[in-house]
Amino acid sequence: RRETAIGGELDKISENSMIGSRILVFVRLRPMAKKEKEAGSRCCVRIVNRRDVYLTEFATENDYLRLKRVRGRHFTFDASFPDSTSQQEVYATTTADLIEAVLQGRNGSVFCYGATGAGKTYTMLGTVENPGVMVLAIKDLFAKIRQRSCDGNHVVHLSYLEVYNETVRDLLSPGRPLVLREDKQGIVAAGLTQYRAYSTDEVMALLQQGNMNRTTEPTRVNETSSRSHAILQVIAEYRVKDGADVVSRIGKLSLIDLAGSERALATDQRTLRSLEGANINRSLLALSSCINALVEGKKHIPYRNSKLTQLLKDSLGGACNTVMIANISPSNLSLGETQNTLHWADRAKEIRTKACVANEEVIQVPAPEADQAKLILGLQKEN
Ligand code: ADP
Ligand code: MG
Repeated sequence: RRETAIGGELDKISENSMIGSRILVFVRLRPMAKKEKEAGSRCCVRIVNRRDVYLTEFATENDYLRLKRVRGRHFTFDASFPDSTSQQEVYATTTADLIEAVLQGRNGSVFCYGATGAGKTYTMLGTVENPGVMVLAIKDLFAKIRQRSCDGNHVVHLSYLEVYNETVRDLLSPGRPLVLREDKQGIVAAGLTQYRAYSTDEVMALLQQGNMNRTTEPTRVNETSSRSHAILQVIAEYRVKDGADVVSRIGKLSLIDLAGSERALATDQRTLRSLEGANINRSLLALSSCINALVEGKKHIPYRNSKLTQLLKDSLGGACNTVMIANISPSNLSLGETQNTLHWADRAKEIRTKACVANEEVIQVPAPEADQAKLILGLQKEN
């Protein structure tokens, strides 16, 4: 690898960082919802030591206090978050390290998996008062860019897209469906809006607006997008002068709010929704086939079976730092879904990723234009 002005300094990722050669898997338990309480729910999940998740279907709170231990099915993850965990804490543990890597020109992705209502959108997007991973990541990215003293220039672009019913749509500029193409950077959606972002303030509004554009289910007006997968792509390019050349590093961060993982056919509008149901199954089924193939070390990974897996190809088996957040409800009424989510989360822990190298390129600038390039870099830095 070529040593550049930005080499040594940017290569330091926090020593405690867990990012590396496999997918990191986290579980987040959300608080019991009012509706669940009213339906007479019991809490069937207990998180111990910030790592272990117990499905205590038959243990009551009293059992726990009396026995001072938990019984039930048990899983262990890189970290597990109890229902009191703040958005900031979830962000800091799961995603903050990826920001540093992205600024070094590496790729990262974070995806939320779980049943509808389990807290995926809350975790990813959050609310105005409690912004989630997408917003905190961008905020952090801008803060880190401001701290950089190197004489270079950072440009951040955002894209926000949706996969619904095996169709890819631009959430920042709704219109005709987008076509997926393969280029040297991997699978890209042709014509996708790349929004140049200057500050965090504008980004939250942009994401809220994008989320309004997500496909909602006509039968459940308030139920946003339980069948659509939303992907926010943050592309951070860093350019620095190196002699007569300009060196460019491009890091891509994908933040993914997956559709509900519950069985699509277990809905009221079964027949009407059958096409959508089939496609939801197709995307999430394809995702589970890919996870299985990756875990089993198969040569052929069936990415091409759905739009979602094509878009996630980099994140799953490529040179990418990948994080999965599995969202679960505490209610025993969702026990089946919770078991299903934890099963896939447990399996995803086995996925090895390839060494994540920086995407670095030297842009040759002809001599008379070199000063011009310097000027441009200087000017853009002002902005
Ligand atoms: P999903 O996107 O998985 O369908 P949501 O994120 O929309 O689920 O969450 C369902 C409801 O639960 C929302 O009203 C959301 O605000 C609330 N919720 C989810 N997670 C939390 C949390 N950790 N703390 C407080 N409220 C939450
Ligand atoms: Mg959601």
